[in-house]
Amino acid sequence: MIVARLALGAAAAWAAYAWGAHLLAPGCVSRGPATHRRIALTFDDGPDPVWTERILAVLDRERVSASFFLVGERAARVLETVGRIAAAGHEIGSHGWSHRSLWFCGPRRTENEIARAQHFLSDAVGAPIRHFRPPWGMLNAAMFGALRRHGQRCVLWSIQPEGLRATPPVRQVEHVLDHAHPGAIVDLHDAEGVRDAPERLLVALSPMIAGLRRLGYDFATVGELLGADDF
Ligand SMILES: [Zn+2]
Repeated sequence: MIVARLALGAAAAWAAYAWGAHLLAPGCVSRGPATHRRIALTFDDGPDPVWTERILAVLDRERVSASFFLVGERAARVLETVGRIAAAGHEIGSHGWSHRSLWFCGPRRTENEIARAQHFLSDAVGAPIRHFRPPWGMLNAAMFGALRRHGQRCVLWSIQPEGLRATPPVRQVEHVLDHAHPGAIVDLHDAEGVRDAPERLLVALSPMIAGLRRLGYDFATVGELLGADDF
């Protein structure tokens, strides 16, 4: 019975994710102001000792500042990469401690996922972490109180070129360019989630950046895009 209930919960969670229901969440930000042609590239699920480093090299070459939503327990394993992300001037956000969907967390576990990642990452970076991206974009009611207590804001996205299914790099670039808008937040992945996602992203990233520049866009971190307004 419990197994069946868990399976049903998981199926509902995947369906909601696939349908983008999480993007309707009030209380979360999914785009910045449309006043400037600026876009925030965001990378979830890292740090990864191989892929994050390669993504960093591309961003450095392209002179783009971005935001990395790190999984706390993965950050603890590759602290040097966390340091390099911060030293390169990128923003570090939280993607929870263990990447567990908040749909399967009660209030105590939710607090723990957010607090543990906040403490660890802010210690590693030497500054408070201001932005939180819930794993899979899935929220629960306890999340908002926990984020308030830890001074964080929930950040989703307005463009996601690769969701649950593997998408060829050329299609990812087309998707981002077709959907680009001032204030967009683009959701990308620098560690393994969908099979070989970072490998495809590494092919797509430079053409994506070049295409957005041709459309007149500049790049900003999520913090720069959203500004310091109260939340
Ligand atoms: Zn994730």
